Amino acid sequence: MLSTSRRPRSLAVLTSGGDAAGMNAAVRAVVRTGLDAGLAVFAVYEGFQGLVDGGPAIRRVGSGDVGGILHQGGTVLGTARCEDFRARDGRKQAARNLAELGVDALVVIGGDGSLTGANIFREEWPDLLAELVEAGEIEQATADAHRRLTLVGMVGSIDNDMFGTDMTIGADTALHRITEAIDAIHSTASSHQRSFVIEVMGRNCGYLALMSALASGANFVLIPESPPDTDEWEESMCRALEAGREIGRRSNIVIVAEGARDLHGNPITAQHVKDVLEERLGEDTRVTSLGHVQRGGAPSAFDRYLSTVLGYAAVQQLLTAPDNEPQLIGLRGHHIINSPLMDCVAKTHSVADIIAAREYETAMEMRGGSFRDSFRMIRTMVRAQPHATPPGQRRLRLAVLHAGGPAPGMNTAVRVAARVGLDLGHTVLAVRNGFEGLADGDHEELDWMSVTGWVSRGGAELGTSRHLPTDDDIDAITSRIEEDRIDGILMIGGWAGYEAASRLRAAVADHPSLNIPIVCLPASINNDLPGSELSVGSDTALNSIVRDVDKIKQSAVASRRSFVVEVMGHDCGYLALMSGLATGAERVYLPEEGISLADLQTDVHALTDGFAHGKRLGLVIRSEHADSVYSTGFIKALFEREGGDLFDVREAILGHVQQGGDPSPFDRIQATRLSDAAMRHLIDQGLEDDSESAFVGLHRGKIRFTPLAEFPKLVEADARRPREQQWLDLRPLAAVMARPIPAPA
Ligand code: ADP
Repeated sequence: MLSTSRRPRSLAVLTSGGDAAGMNAAVRAVVRTGLDAGLAVFAVYEGFQGLVDGGPAIRRVGSGDVGGILHQGGTVLGTARCEDFRARDGRKQAARNLAELGVDALVVIGGDGSLTGANIFREEWPDLLAELVEAGEIEQATADAHRRLTLVGMVGSIDNDMFGTDMTIGADTALHRITEAIDAIHSTASSHQRSFVIEVMGRNCGYLALMSALASGANFVLIPESPPDTDEWEESMCRALEAGREIGRRSNIVIVAEGARDLHGNPITAQHVKDVLEERLGEDTRVTSLGHVQRGGAPSAFDRYLSTVLGYAAVQQLLTAPDNEPQLIGLRGHHIINSPLMDCVAKTHSVADIIAAREYETAMEMRGGSFRDSFRMIRTMVRAQPHATPPGQRRLRLAVLHAGGPAPGMNTAVRVAARVGLDLGHTVLAVRNGFEGLADGDHEELDWMSVTGWVSRGGAELGTSRHLPTDDDIDAITSRIEEDRIDGILMIGGWAGYEAASRLRAAVADHPSLNIPIVCLPASINNDLPGSELSVGSDTALNSIVRDVDKIKQSAVASRRSFVVEVMGHDCGYLALMSGLATGAERVYLPEEGISLADLQTDVHALTDGFAHGKRLGLVIRSEHADSVYSTGFIKALFEREGGDLFDVREAILGHVQQGGDPSPFDRIQATRLSDAAMRHLIDQGLEDDSESAFVGLHRGKIRFTPLAEFPKLVEADARRPREQQWLDLRPLAAVMARPIPAPA
């Protein structure tokens, strides 16, 4: 009888298939979590080839062996297509190599091919060992000690084409590369009034094409799952682009996924689109095929975070349920999920089959709600003019404004709000300078083209203000709402905006005209707003911090140095903890926890001890409001004094660069999704004469509305942050990542 539960004593980790940015972070997390659990951890080099070859290709590692790799693209373990592993004999060699090292748990980071191969290996494992015993290649005792192979998978694939996770490792970084490229092309295309056809990766999955089109304001997109719906698609594409020119668009950008096809399944190539544009429109057209650039470069903040949490969870899975059928570890919103690995692979393959069978509706259905919504949104955004107001429908007058600190993505959200509002037949008023501007009547009507180019623009074109409306302001706002006949307000902003909106609602009893719906959309780099696991702007800020800290770390190559980096966040430690995870900080100080003298003593001791034992670089991150007494300067001075000759200390206060910059692709996409949903909600409320106010947010990756009246209940009484912050659960993981555990000599 097999025992029903056993705890692996060791594990091996490998990367396989196409490389993807973030694989290193995943390997680091698997290695460090395994070590922390007391396992012997082996790194396998060159994918399955290393398993087959054994010897130096499978090495016992300590936490230091995976240090300094977080910021590197690709995989330091190497990856290879391995024909040997496709054959049973190759897999038998692999089984022998692992069993001899006493390893019977395997974590594979790769695409569906790699995970399929790994599962075949797992299924064959008992037979392979029996055959090895029979051939005298391993001892019976060895086979008895490793009767099963435990397998856990994580998806490394830039295509984001896999079931079982919202995002695959590498997809966000690829979106960064693509949007950077398209932003650059936009400026040259506009200068020359040219057209560009851009080919992006994705043979069976239009994710990168669709999301990069959404994030870059492209004018046409062709994806495998949903071909143009007529045989005259060239004609309708040309008409759409021509209409854009007529209203003054200076450039045309068409994005073509590698696997794009027409209704009959015939491939649509970038070259064909170029020929069509040149022949039928006489457009000066260039093709840019982004190719392998999309795979490369430093992983984005999100990919580092994603890979780290997946790697951690993969080892937990392996420890807690080693005998379960193999699981795929994925992420939904901020939540880790696991699903049967082979079900995910089968579903992934079935979409490819469905596309090949030209059952496009089913393919779109299988991609899920947010994919379909994104495709719908694209079709609105690329229009040259809005639909006419349906006869008999009331034309609402909807005001859009910002309040709170600036957050990258605010312009993106206004652009979408304007176009969705106009397309649904309403009037959209852009209010300058927040609620102050509302009181002053400082607003103008937006038309379709007034938000052109806003998708990628940092800052806030409408201006934002932290001013909270006073009683006088509320009187003035009430008069404005009456005079200008405002039917609803979309507030895109942060804490001050939520407070201001709450004040307006509270004043309704005395000012009946204020009884109009208000929808708040979370836009704040701090991610400190209730009702949403994410606020627009925080991803851009994180990427900015991560880029700066990477550089700061590199500056210390020749010295033994520790850095104390201060990041923004107000009363919320989100940016500090997440950037700590993404940059490999060994300690993060959060406002949620404060700082005590005892903490500092422990941390100083750990630092001096580390440097005394050969450490060369230290990094701690302090959130700006972590403690009112133990400031960044204080901590720096303390470390410097106690470090003596062992190491020196530098402080870096990153400051307002964190609020600037063009929005990251993720922020553009979330701003687009949230703004679309918020505007529709506002319109529904306005048309129904229902004035319930709410804030929109993301919960487990899905859009959710929370009544504005709940704001006070959901936030802490004396600090500016939500009562529940799910990301705080990541603290133990951050501690594990920072713990040094050497490999045995
Ligand atoms: P990806 O993992 O990115 O989908 P591939 O499909 O190229 O990439 O697979 C990577 C490797 O996984 C292959 O080179 C091979 O070694 C192994 N592999 C893939 N499919 C199988 C299979 N059906 N049986 C055994 N090994 C496989």
